[in-house]
Amino acid sequence: MQGIILLGAPGSGKGTAAERLRDRAGFTHLATGDMLRAALKQGTALGREAEGYMQRGELVPDDLIIRMVRERLEAGPREARYLFDGFPRTVVQAEKLEQTLADLGGRLTRVLLLETPRAVLIQRLTGRRICRQCGTNFHVTNVPPKRAGVCDVCGGELYQRPDDQEATIVKRLDVYAQQTEALIAFYAARGLLTRVNSNQGADQLVADILGIVQTDAGAAAPGAGAGGRKA
Ligand code: AMP
Repeated sequence: MQGIILLGAPGSGKGTAAERLRDRAGFTHLATGDMLRAALKQGTALGREAEGYMQRGELVPDDLIIRMVRERLEAGPREARYLFDGFPRTVVQAEKLEQTLADLGGRLTRVLLLETPRAVLIQRLTGRRICRQCGTNFHVTNVPPKRAGVCDVCGGELYQRPDDQEATIVKRLDVYAQQTEALIAFYAARGLLTRVNSNQGADQLVADILGIVQTDAGAAAPGAGAGGRKA
């Protein structure tokens, strides 16, 4: 079991990049925000506990998140390669992830920090629309659907996440900024952190990420010399 973390603010393109990497390079996408929204929709105990935090743009308590991720990893195949999206958000979560992966015979191979100016994040998030049925992301101006309010892929209805209202976005970006410095230091100290410019189109972002990930895979292959990328 291997893992790559996509670390970046809400709106930095983690979800879009993860979906494309899943399709092109066979990763399993694990997004804690998506898992929580699914729990909320199904009305599970976890969903009910998480709801208030999510509506306010605050972080859901670490123990709930850690339990949810651990259960998912334990249930999955041991040879899976995960892309963690929106997780970990705190150093406690990062420590528990390290422990869980070690328990399951796995490890992290890279942490990619997606960097985007704040004004761009706000523009992306306020315009984001998502298909209720298949989850595909659109944007009212950057990636508009062919018919307003209708998904190009499956014809489902497009909606705006309640936490993509501007007041909640500002709160989420502040929470991200508060938590991230410590996470950056945590992963830089382990030699795993690489910064990626995500103020560019999704195609270029995915190409940049694939370049880094494939270099890592080459460096890890038997017989390959040392010299993987460094932060
Ligand atoms: P996201 O879809 O990643 O933007 O997450 C939406 C909301 O879910 C966040 O604002 C948090 O309330 C909650 N959430 C998602 N992932 C985590 C996490 N790893 N730790 C704590 N809360 C989370």
